[in-house]
Amino acid sequence: MTLSSHFGTGKCALSYELFPPKTPAGDAALAANLEKLMAYRPDFVTCTYGAGGSTQTKTLDVCRSVKQQFDVPVASHLTVVGSTTGDLESYLREAWDAGVEYLVALRGDPPQGETTFQPVAGGLRFANELVELIRSLDMPFGIAVAGYPEVHQEATSPDADLANLKRKVDAGADIVITQLFYINDDFFRFRDRCVDAGINVPIVPGILPVTDLGQIQRITKLCKAQLPESFVKRLGERDDSQWQAEVGIEFATQQVQELLAAEVPGLHLYVLNKSQAALQVLQGVNWPRG
Ligand code: FAD
Repeated sequence: MTLSSHFGTGKCALSYELFPPKTPAGDAALAANLEKLMAYRPDFVTCTYGAGGSTQTKTLDVCRSVKQQFDVPVASHLTVVGSTTGDLESYLREAWDAGVEYLVALRGDPPQGETTFQPVAGGLRFANELVELIRSLDMPFGIAVAGYPEVHQEATSPDADLANLKRKVDAGADIVITQLFYINDDFFRFRDRCVDAGINVPIVPGILPVTDLGQIQRITKLCKAQLPESFVKRLGERDDSQWQAEVGIEFATQQVQELLAAEVPGLHLYVLNKSQAALQVLQGVNWPRG
């Protein structure tokens, strides 16, 4: 299968994003949660790549084990942080040999303690260069790249950010997966602007159901995503994690329902290695089980 072939089939494609657990208990929890999530037969599953390449081996371990256990296509995220092109090529070879079919090709964030991204000598500067590198090799990976409905925080302007996204797609990306967002109109505007800019690949919304107010405020501060004020107010009505999860799941369910009504080509769920919120959202929108 190719990455593109999951999209435009008349049904909305489903993908889950995982991260590499840090402990054996985390591995076990992920395996148990995946078992439940697989009831919805995702089209593919992705696994993040730690800052500075810190989780390289673990990212591939997760990809391998998800593939072996569930026979579902897997995507490794890959950033250029701290890597020369030679390092990147070695990783790509290893991933290909491990049966990884797809990649989420990223620049990555500056390492902790640094405020601006600095390429290493012999490395790459932007994600479009990574896409070019991948396409220059003899491994026909499907490639997803990141898109920002609220504009990437380092972009000099929304138009410059869009031109950069186009550069990634023109270099050979098959789909765009967006940064998390909580205001659908931001996504719809972004989608329209992509079409106007001649970006004609599927634009897949990335959705993170909120389960904890403190956690989502930390995450959205880092990636500069807006939380609607009324949503924050409602979440803050009770300092009770179960209540906050219920409010967050209800919000995400409505958000996804509206996106589905607007015929998005796919849904990328940031499941954060948990299952309950994602399952409740999928159930809430009557997503067909496999
Ligand atoms: P780029 O597309 O390279 O863009 C970076 C900035 O440079 C943008 O402001 C852009 O407008 C500008 N720019 C791009 N190209 C050019 C150019 N040619 N000339 C001038 N300016 C340019 N991070 C991780 O560390 N690990 C992960 O696994 C991970 N997974 C992610 C998955 C998704 C779906 C998303 C949305 C983000 C993910 N991130 C991950 C975060 C991501 O690494 C950061 O958002 C990072 O700051 C930008 O990466 P990028 O690939 O979008 O960069």
